[in-house]
Amino acid sequence: MNYRDSSEQANWREQVRRFVESNAPEEYRIRHRPAVDSYGGGDETFQAWRSRVAKQGWLAPHWPKEYGGLGLSVMEQFIMKEEFALQRTPHPGARGVEMVGPTVILHGSDAQKAELLPGILNGEHIYSQGFSEPGAGSDLAALQLRATRDGDEYVLNGQKIWTSNATSCNWMFLLARTDPEAPKHRGISYFVTPVDVPGLEVRPMTDMAGGHELCETFFDNVRIPASYRIGEENRGWYVAMTTLDFERSGIAGAVGVQLAILDLVSMARAANVVSRQRTRLADLFVASEVARQMSYHVASLQDRGQVPNYESSMVKLFSSELHRRADTDALNVLGLRGYLLRGSAGYEVDEGRVARAYSGSIPTTIAGGTSEIQRGIIAGRGLGLPRG
Ligand SMILES: Cc1cc2nc3c(=O)[nH]c(=O)nc-3n(C[C@H](O)[C@H](O)[C@H](O)COP(=O)(O)OP(=O)(O)OC[C@H]3O[C@@H](n4cnc5c(N)ncnc54)[C@H](O)[C@@H]3O)c2cc1C
Repeated sequence: MNYRDSSEQANWREQVRRFVESNAPEEYRIRHRPAVDSYGGGDETFQAWRSRVAKQGWLAPHWPKEYGGLGLSVMEQFIMKEEFALQRTPHPGARGVEMVGPTVILHGSDAQKAELLPGILNGEHIYSQGFSEPGAGSDLAALQLRATRDGDEYVLNGQKIWTSNATSCNWMFLLARTDPEAPKHRGISYFVTPVDVPGLEVRPMTDMAGGHELCETFFDNVRIPASYRIGEENRGWYVAMTTLDFERSGIAGAVGVQLAILDLVSMARAANVVSRQRTRLADLFVASEVARQMSYHVASLQDRGQVPNYESSMVKLFSSELHRRADTDALNVLGLRGYLLRGSAGYEVDEGRVARAYSGSIPTTIAGGTSEIQRGIIAGRGLGLPRG
């Protein structure tokens, strides 16, 4: 297996690296994990960065050129993401570019493409994802939010939960039940909607780290035009599945964990604890290299036109569990000072980043499909084992 760049790929890598080096905000380079905080509206720095990337024409690398994308191959897209991540800089595409745009391009009508794609590309439409409900997380197809057709509109009633960044997003893509009599996967449709419509209420929740990005969203007779249904009625499950199929290598996450481990090595040196922690740090580094190799493998499958399935679950499972392990080990390596947040009279390590990273690592094994679900996919589709 040869993961070395061809000369064209090496040139492309160099071009991306130079662009990020000369244009990315300085503050992203300081022990910052890629993609952090980049899914909501973002602060001024993020918005300026987003405009800079958009001006370069690199906001939607995987969209076909006719829709304003770059039309990159899988490997070129992979290289771009890897280079952004290596410089701790988020690619500012977010859910609109990564999930909604490709879905509209594949399943939308010409009128929907004309109406919905420009807002994503110029950054005016920032999307949250309304999939999970109180009784539908791992078993997503059990969702109950009801969409009833009424002339040229649908009327939505019900609730979503864990809708990340919903307070700073102005659009949402969501799944709703359009046929309660059909088998559960076949009675679902896929919609987009502006958030600022009568009857739609967003309530932020407080997470264990004190953040307010997770939200509950309530729909009380929300009327949306029927033209905001993407794909056929009752085929939304399959529309959603293609949405989840784009770029699954997880390279940004794998690079992010490796950088965090290298940061930990520097902090352990500075705190003079390296001699006691050498083997633990070595183990973490080996695991982070395995995560990167697994990402290369998934990208190489996609590059050959194959659709990764249990291999993507392996990357998600391994990288997210490593993420948690690395942040837990960081506390152990640094001792009690590692637990202190910023403002602890100067006793905190690295402005409290280690403690913050630890609480931020807990949900990584839940969001986007829990570790148990990933193990189930690997056991069933990868190893051919019967259901337990
Ligand atoms: C930080 C964060 C951000 C999120 N953002 C969004 C978002 O923007 N939009 C959105 O729609 N959702 C979002 N989610 C929701 C996320 O997709 C769900 O939390 C996840 O799918 C798990 O669903 P659940 O919380 O309902 O847990 P449940 O499905 O109720 O699971 C509870 C426990 O049971 C286990 N379990 C469930 N089924 C099985 C099974 N078949 N086999 C073995 N074990 C099982 C699970 O692994 C878990 O440990 C987010 C979650 C988090 C933590």
